[in-house]
Amino acid sequence: MSLTIPDVRRNASPYLYGQEAASVVRVLEAGQYGHTDLTAEFESRIAAYLGVPDVVAVSSGTAALHSALLATGIGPGDEVIVPSMTFCATVQVIRAVGASPRFIDVDPATLCVTPQLVMEAVTDDTAAVLPVLFGGRAVDLRPLREDLAERGIVVIEDAAHAFGSHCGPQHVGADDTALTCFSFGPVKNLTCGQGGAVIPRTPEEAAAVRRLRMLGVTQSQSERAETTGYQVEGFGLRYQLSSINAAIGLAQLDHFDTAVRSRRHLWRTYSDALDALEGVTLVDVDLDHTVPHLCQVRVPHRDHVFAHLRARNIGVGVHYPPNHLQPAFARWRRDLAATERVSREILSLPFHQHLTEADVHRVGTALGHALKATGGA
Ligand SMILES: *Cc1c(COP(=O)(O)O)cnc(C)c1O
Repeated sequence: MSLTIPDVRRNASPYLYGQEAASVVRVLEAGQYGHTDLTAEFESRIAAYLGVPDVVAVSSGTAALHSALLATGIGPGDEVIVPSMTFCATVQVIRAVGASPRFIDVDPATLCVTPQLVMEAVTDDTAAVLPVLFGGRAVDLRPLREDLAERGIVVIEDAAHAFGSHCGPQHVGADDTALTCFSFGPVKNLTCGQGGAVIPRTPEEAAAVRRLRMLGVTQSQSERAETTGYQVEGFGLRYQLSSINAAIGLAQLDHFDTAVRSRRHLWRTYSDALDALEGVTLVDVDLDHTVPHLCQVRVPHRDHVFAHLRARNIGVGVHYPPNHLQPAFARWRRDLAATERVSREILSLPFHQHLTEADVHRVGTALGHALKATGGA
C-alpha cells in the first residue's frame, strides 16, 4: 500500500495520531479479537467523555441505529419520521425493522430538521422520530419532549456526524430524553476503522442493546467458557465491536481534543476563504457547539461546478442524494420542495485533518474559478 498523505484530492480521510497501529498489533498478538475488556474500556472512556452513565459499543453506526429501533420495539405498522436528506443507512434501518419511513424536509440553512417540521409530520402511526445531526450540528427537539412522550413517540438521534458536538451545555448523547447513535466509521470525527455506539436512556435499553449485539445471548464470553451451554434469550445479531476496532478507537480518543481543534480551525479557515465569493452560501454548522464533520456550500450550477473541480483534482462530493427520490424508497415518496432544491445546490468541499491552510485557499480559489467558468458568479 502506498503511503501518500491524503490531500485535496480526497473529500474525506481518517487521521491517525500514531499509536493506532501499535495498539492493533498488541490485540492481534494477544489473540482475542472478539468482545473483550478492551471493548468495555472503550465504552467507559466514551461514557466518561460524554458525561453519560452508559454506552453500548457496536460494530457500526448502522448497527447502532438498527439496534436502537429494535430495542425500542419499532416494527411493522409503525411510521418513523426521518429527513430525506441523510445517508441511506438512516432509512435502511427503518426498513430493516419493517417500519415505514415518513420523509420530511430540512431547513436549507442547516440541512437539519426543525421541531416544527417534525410536528407537522406526526400522525397516529408515528412511533419514532429519527433526526439527523447533519454535519455534526445538534438538533434540539427538547421543546417537543412532552408532546412526543404523550403520544409514545421515541426520539432516536442519528449522531453519526456529531461525536464531540454539544447541544447547549451538554454533549450530544447526554440528553436522557433521546437515544443517540454514533458512527465510528472510517471518515467520522472519531474512527474505530468500523464501529458505532448507542447511548441508551435507561439501564433496560442498555441491556436490550447488549443482548441484541450478541445474537440474543446474555452470558459473557468468560461465563460461557465455564459452562457446557449458553442461553438464547431473544432476537439478536452479531453486532459487537471487536477488540481490534476498540483498540483503534481508544488510541484515537487519546487525541480527540486535537480533532476538535483542527476540524474547527479548518472550518473557520474555509469560512474566511469563501467569504468574498459571490454566489456561495456556506451551510451553517454553529461552530461554537459543533465538531464539524463536513464543510458544505450551496452553489448555482452545482453539477458543472462539481465537474470543473473534479477535473482539477479537487475532491468535492455530495452529501447526500435525497432518499425520497431513491428507487428503493419510491413507495414513501412525497413532495419535499426544500430538500429537492438544496439537493441540486449542495457541494461538500474536501474536509479532513490532513489539509493545510494553503490547501483550503487553493480549494477556495478553484471554487471561484469554477463559478466564473460556469456563469454562476
Ligand atoms: C456514516 C453514517 C451512518 C452509518 O454509519 P456506519 O458506521 O457507516 O454504518 C448513518 N448515518 C449517517 C448520517 C452517516 O453519515
